[in-house]
Amino acid sequence: MKNLVRIMLEGTYTNLKRILFASDRVTDMELRSKILEGRIVPTDKVATESCIGCAGCKNVCPTSAIEMVKLETPVELMEGLVKEEIPVIDSLKCVNCYYCHDFCPLYALFGEAGTIHPNDVGDVNPDVREMLEKPVKISDDKLAYISKFLSDTAILRKRQDQENSK
Ligand code: SF4
Ligand code: SF4
Repeated sequence: MKNLVRIMLEGTYTNLKRILFASDRVTDMELRSKILEGRIVPTDKVATESCIGCAGCKNVCPTSAIEMVKLETPVELMEGLVKEEIPVIDSLKCVNCYYCHDFCPLYALFGEAGTIHPNDVGDVNPDVREMLEKPVKISDDKLAYISKFLSDTAILRKRQDQENSK
C-alpha cells in the first residue's frame, strides 16, 4: 500500500514537472495554464478526420495508453503520405499529461489545434491536405526533436526537399 501511494505521488509530481517546467515542451503556456487550472476536460477523443496517422502520440505516451488501429481503407493525404492507422486512447491508462497533444504534428508543426485530447483549443477539423502545404511554424531544433517521435517523416522530408530546392 505504501509503495502504491509512493508510485502515485511520484507520478503526479513527474506530470506536474512536465507541465510546468519541461523546456522542450511544445505546448504553449496558455495551454499549460488551461491544463493546470482544469479548464480542459479530459476526453478520449481523437479527431480522426484530421489525424494524419503518424503515431507520434503513441510514441510519446508515457503510459502506453494509445494504440494505433488499422484503417479498413487507407487514405492518401499527399504524395508519399498515406494514412493507414489512427489512434485509440484507453482512458483508464491515460494520466492527462497531454504529451500526445504536444507532439501531434498538427499542433506542433503547423500551429493548428492538435487532433488529440484538448479539442477545445481551436478548430479541430482543418483541411488536412491544405494544412500540409503550409509552412512549418517551429524552429529547426524543435523540428529535429519532434521528428524523433514521428513514425512517418514524410512531411519533414517534403519540407527538407522544398528547402533544398530554393
Ligand atoms: S494525455 Fe496523451 S500522452 Fe498523456 S497519458 Fe493520456 S493519452 Fe498518453
Ligand atoms: S500525433 Fe496527431 S496526427 Fe499523429 S497519429 Fe496522433 S493524433 Fe494523429
